[in-house]
Amino acid sequence: MASLIPVSEIPTASLLYKLNRLTPVSNPINHPSQAFNDVVSLIRSDITKLQVDCIVNAANKSLLGGGGVDGAIHRAAGPDLVKECRKLGGCKTGDAKITDAYNLPCKRVIHTVGPVYHSEDRPEHLLRSCYRRSLELAVENKMKSIAFSGISTGVYGYPGADAAHAVLDEVRKFLEANEGGVLERVIFCNFARQDEEFYEGAIPKFFPPTDQDIHGQRSEAQPKSDGESSPSPEILAAKLPDPPTADPALHDQPEAKKQKVNVEDLGQSISSRAEDKSEDDWEQVDKSEGGHIEGLDDEPVKVERAPSAADVQSVQSSGIIDMDESQTGENFLLKDW
Ligand code: ADP
Repeated sequence: MASLIPVSEIPTASLLYKLNRLTPVSNPINHPSQAFNDVVSLIRSDITKLQVDCIVNAANKSLLGGGGVDGAIHRAAGPDLVKECRKLGGCKTGDAKITDAYNLPCKRVIHTVGPVYHSEDRPEHLLRSCYRRSLELAVENKMKSIAFSGISTGVYGYPGADAAHAVLDEVRKFLEANEGGVLERVIFCNFARQDEEFYEGAIPKFFPPTDQDIHGQRSEAQPKSDGESSPSPEILAAKLPDPPTADPALHDQPEAKKQKVNVEDLGQSISSRAEDKSEDDWEQVDKSEGGHIEGLDDEPVKVERAPSAADVQSVQSSGIIDMDESQTGENFLLKDW
């Protein structure tokens, strides 16, 4: 099991500039801000390993768990998480809700529902809303550090580069409106290297480096006050946590898609993202060879046929959903999130 990563080991944009892991661009969109570059942070990791105040889950409207990062978070949190989620009455796309974190190393989990990219008229508006609402909830709950997974960039199909641009613009606007707020760290946590690259490309546009970031010197506007000399880039680099070495699909199956019991069509099929079901969604579902769904850890479930009671039992036993009697049979089928 990968070890836990304390917030102090998660690199800020400022540190990544010093290490040349972020490269300035000639046409940044915003002005440099040391304060923001010390808040915005980037890491490639399994988000369930981060010892931050809160992590943001890419949930679905039921909030009852799924595959991908949602499944990884529910597995790591344990069954009490879905019990609390069940009381929340679902969540609208673009909105967010907060729960305890149970067995996770963070203090709270914010669950936000991203747009299904090909099904929404205004996916960018909704994606921005996910990040804004999550940040608002974090501030309301006095969270000092928040780590986002790549909302909608997995099975919901939002193009990663476009998402990074919209997200960074929205976060910048939030920080500008809340300057001096309680948030000390806003962390973008990606699992796949390509997703991290989208952030590496976009951060310099929205959070360009200051003189201090590039030359290790404070600008006149931000004189150094503590008299300490900055550690060398080599020392700083040695402190960075290692990125995941396993392919996301193999690492605790974090890339597994949002396969879950379809709360509306339980009697017909097991699908991904039941509540947002559209033809596009059905095409996006990733199946491993042989028709097995990836992500339902122990016993894969077939999708080409109607689920049997054993399928439902299998999904329940995966821990991804936790149904009690009131949620099985007709009552469960009638649920309309
Ligand atoms: P959505 O349905 O909102 O697209 P997914 O869970 O399918 O959500 O994917 C969202 C993002 O989370 C993807 O970029 C995926 O690579 C990433 N991801 C999956 N598992 C993890 C994990 N354990 N930690 C961090 N990121 C993860």
